Amino acid sequence: MATTTTFTNATQILEPFRGVKKVTLEEYFTSGHRTCQGCESALVMKLMVKAAGPRTIVLGSTGCMYVANTTYYTTPWVVPWMHTQLGSSGSAALGTAAGLKVLMRKGKMKAEPINVIAFCGDGGGADMGLGAISATLTHKEYNSLILLYDNESYANTDIQLSGSTPYGAHTTFSPPGKAVRIIHTRWKKNTAGMLAAGHTECRYVATVCPSYAVEMMNKVRRALTIGGPTFIHSLDPCPKGWDYDPMLSHELGELAIETGIFPLYEVEDGTLTYYGKTKALVEGRAGRSASTSSSRGASPTSPRRTSHISRRRSTRCGRSGRSRRSYRSAAWTPRRRRSR
Ligand code: SF4
Ligand code: MG
Repeated sequence: MATTTTFTNATQILEPFRGVKKVTLEEYFTSGHRTCQGCESALVMKLMVKAAGPRTIVLGSTGCMYVANTTYYTTPWVVPWMHTQLGSSGSAALGTAAGLKVLMRKGKMKAEPINVIAFCGDGGGADMGLGAISATLTHKEYNSLILLYDNESYANTDIQLSGSTPYGAHTTFSPPGKAVRIIHTRWKKNTAGMLAAGHTECRYVATVCPSYAVEMMNKVRRALTIGGPTFIHSLDPCPKGWDYDPMLSHELGELAIETGIFPLYEVEDGTLTYYGKTKALVEGRAGRSASTSSSRGASPTSPRRTSHISRRRSTRCGRSGRSRRSYRSAAWTPRRRRSR
């Protein structure tokens, strides 16, 4: 008889990191990936699995974080990893969690809590795989986390618009013309809100941004601790798709939160809680102008902040010695095409 009969549906108890100095040093997403310079989605992968720890299985549906991370015979993943089809992150999460449970119940493997995380892009999660994610979130007997990394386009196939692309965005499917400047006139899909509202069996839904790394890791740890199917939606600035200098990824994430374009919240057992800068915005303690009280001491559009950005832009590039501005204009486009 298996020694695992007492195993029910346990999860790992992952306490939140109390500050950046308490974050563990071990990395489970290391060197060897080929994402673009300044890619925030790669940072999401790194933080996600760092928060989850070594007893974790990661499943990745097709997208940037599959293609750029698993070139033949190379990978940055240190934990077990599996590719799944573009719309199948939900199915893969559910199947893996169910398979683990059966193997443990039958005594074919040691009974222990193992994290199952499936990630998907906005194309794979907010569009094609939405049905599979929805189905997974109704199966409360299986522990899995689905993390949607949202760079607001099908970036892997050269920036086509998705359901997560915001109003007015310039993509290869919505190029501005001379007569009509704004081709894309749909608003961004509210994926996290929709999934939270429609799945009472799902105990935890959160939105995160990698610019707030410790908060993001703590949301991942909370989702994995609370158990059952859980969902996290991350907003990831993407230099290639959004067309900005890669060194500004972190600032763009901050701006999205500080301006309220992307709210940070969690829904745990039906209770909505705003956190971070979003909480101050919602409570009326920080309007646009009041973001001068942010840690950088400047509003997103204040002269101080823009001068800070332009100062950094004009710094010399470490390798070539040329200014970043000339580096960008002379060599950026060909390098970008070669990079993937
Ligand atoms: Fe990252 Fe965007 Fe490049 Fe994809 S296209 S690897 S999301 S920066
Ligand atoms: Mg995408």
